[in-house]
Amino acid sequence: MKSTIETLAAKLRSGDCTSVSLTEEYIRAIEASDINAYVHRSFALAREQAKRADEMLAAGKGTVLTGIPMALKDNICTKGEETTCCSKILRGYVPFFDATAWEKLKEQGAVLLGKNNMDEFAMGSTSETSCYGAPLNPWNKTRVTGGSSGGGAAAVAGHLAAYALGSDTGGSIRQPASFCGIVGLKPTYGAVSRYGLIAYGSSLDQIGPMGNSVKDVAIVFDAIKGEDARDATSEQTFGTVADRLEGGVNGLRIGVAEEYFDGLGAEMREKFDAAIELFARLGAKIVRLSVPGIKLALPAYYIIACAEASSNLGRYDGIRFGYRAEKYDSVDDMICKTRTEGFGKEVQRRIMLGTYVLSAGYYDAYYKKACKLRASITASFAEAFASCDVLLAPTVPNTAFPLGYTGKNRIEMYLSDICTVPVNIAGLPAVSLPCGKDADGMPVGMQLIGRKFDEATILRAAYAYENCAEPVGEAEGGVRV
Ligand code: GLN
Repeated sequence: MKSTIETLAAKLRSGDCTSVSLTEEYIRAIEASDINAYVHRSFALAREQAKRADEMLAAGKGTVLTGIPMALKDNICTKGEETTCCSKILRGYVPFFDATAWEKLKEQGAVLLGKNNMDEFAMGSTSETSCYGAPLNPWNKTRVTGGSSGGGAAAVAGHLAAYALGSDTGGSIRQPASFCGIVGLKPTYGAVSRYGLIAYGSSLDQIGPMGNSVKDVAIVFDAIKGEDARDATSEQTFGTVADRLEGGVNGLRIGVAEEYFDGLGAEMREKFDAAIELFARLGAKIVRLSVPGIKLALPAYYIIACAEASSNLGRYDGIRFGYRAEKYDSVDDMICKTRTEGFGKEVQRRIMLGTYVLSAGYYDAYYKKACKLRASITASFAEAFASCDVLLAPTVPNTAFPLGYTGKNRIEMYLSDICTVPVNIAGLPAVSLPCGKDADGMPVGMQLIGRKFDEATILRAAYAYENCAEPVGEAEGGVRV
């Protein structure tokens, strides 16, 4: 059976196990695993935190998250534990502060097993740009996990962590969740503090949970959300969501936008048609509509994300922290060599693209135009949400690629983000959950998109679906209840 937060918390409370014994089980499983889900193991800290969690539980204190072993993407800062974004340029960097989201989980008695593998600086869709090599998909080790939060998705699907936090700039929580058959929530922009999240595209980045059930991601979202004085873009959200999952979808208007299904293969289409049918049987009202803005999102995303990345990554110059080239003959030469040797090819490509679209002479033609597109995409979604409450879409038009797959050209990989990037551009919340398997037995993911700060409705719909749909099953290995 899948180890969910709820089942593990029940075991802890019934005295079936302690956090210390559960943590040891996860440590053994991680040590025995070959899927490269972890790039840094924090076992000493985990053992200490587990001991403290057991004390909290014995004193009748704590929450459902107390004593539960979990993991964090390697771009979320952890005091005293190496945080590298899976880049050579940050190897050896040990933050002296915690990200707010991690600080909040820590206060509840979470147990950190380690940091998860990812694409370098969160740029990619397969986690293969990691300087530590790619993680493997626990459903089939010849396939990618997706990216960029691939290690977290592999850890959760492979039961090497009860849950994980990832980050989503253009799909990096939802796409790997879809490829690994788990649930992933990209919260509304501003719902979770970005303090301590190493920036990629600051106007798009959001931290969010990945778990083995809808309830699990709802529980973790409740624990990490809220306004934070250290992130000016964070906002207070209304109420909790984990206690609002019941209620079903009777009368809920589920929008199906034709743009999301354009060019989709027959096998994938079948899965979404079946999901739509199930929602209809559960009493939802299916609304067919068009959201023209969706088609504009991909080019806008790759301009805005690269522009912001080129600015955010300017700080890695070898002067203050991280990698520094060994041989150089001037300051300029040192910075140039440090960045050339420290950054991987994909990161360099995006920095150059971003610098180009921000340069005088091209700014108006590219960056300014992309910002205008962004406004019209946001308006397009607002219009759609006048006639529906939730949008249903594929998370990705395909299932997990074979490892090493390069496609016809680089653009093909960028194009596979077509269904995930629109919500980042518009700042909306979206959850990805499993909705079947393809002929090769690889999981397919469905996305439910909501209005700003309306995580409660998309999670309620996801919960109703999860309770009634045929389960997709699970990958082998790891810790089971
Ligand atoms: N695949 C997208 C990209 O490469 C998404 C990345 C992300 O969400 N961090 O930019």
